[in-house]
Amino acid sequence: MFDGADRTIAGCTQGRRLAVSAARVCVLGPSGRMGRSIVDAAAGRTDVTLTALVDRADAGSVGQVLAGLTVTAHPTAALAASSVYIDFTTPAATRAFADAATVARVPAVIGTTGLDADAEAALARLAKVAPVVVAANFSLGVNIVLGVAQQIARTLGPDWDAEVVETHHRAKRDAPSGTALAIARAIAAGHGVNYDSVKRHSRDGDIGPRPRGEIGVSTVRGGDVVGEHTATFYGAGERIELGHRATSRTIFAAGALHAAAWVVGKAPGRYDMIDVLGLR
Ligand code: NAD
Repeated sequence: MFDGADRTIAGCTQGRRLAVSAARVCVLGPSGRMGRSIVDAAAGRTDVTLTALVDRADAGSVGQVLAGLTVTAHPTAALAASSVYIDFTTPAATRAFADAATVARVPAVIGTTGLDADAEAALARLAKVAPVVVAANFSLGVNIVLGVAQQIARTLGPDWDAEVVETHHRAKRDAPSGTALAIARAIAAGHGVNYDSVKRHSRDGDIGPRPRGEIGVSTVRGGDVVGEHTATFYGAGERIELGHRATSRTIFAAGALHAAAWVVGKAPGRYDMIDVLGLR
């Protein structure tokens, strides 16, 4: 990482000069649904400046010019040109970029979900040398839902059966969604229990009565749904439904760019959107 904000980066910025105080942002996967939204949402913002776009070597976008930048498949130069990178890709790409960023000590904003143990370990290594924001959902509304779900669970306790249902577009690869898991974990935290000891991600066949304190998560896939989550607390004779519907990816893109501007200059460590939004 370097600090000269007023430098241009050969091959990356095509001669543009960068705003002095703006975070210099490398976006991974600009040909993807979220990558495209982030590139679009960066236009007109003063707190961030795009400095590099990196995609997989076989992506059709490599070599194309987007938002004035040539998309590259080479992370090293892109990371060296940037003060932070934003990653909405795949767990394998998250691991590989975190390893490269650890060498370069570049802060990160990670939105990729379904992270496996290898990717989590790579992010833990990066968080030792740079600040890293990791969030399954970058929208303000969902992060409010996380806080309220925990509060409801703490107040009502496990006698109110808690179930989370999520719906996403047909192309989504991981299930349940990272956001559904985050809501379910918030409920477990409200109950004061370890989530893994009470979770139920699928039901089929003769499952018997529902155990007290179980937290269920169900997945629906179809069409072009951006993301819907409902946490329901079933009591005796009444229930509470806490829901969130995303109708546009721009909310995640704006949240990720806000997090990128926030994380530059923070101490090394792992942060989430609750930290970024000042909701803790
Ligand atoms: P997508 O398939 O449309 O895009 C993925 C992009 O990653 C593609 O451009 C692909 O070329 C790129 N990519 C893959 N491997 C790469 C590599 N090695 N190097 C560079 N680029 C690489 O997927 P999407 O719908 O944009 O979602 C991406 C991720 O973001 C998913 O995990 C999804 O669940 C998550 N997501 C998170 C949030 C949030 O708020 N945290 C919101 C929406 C989606």
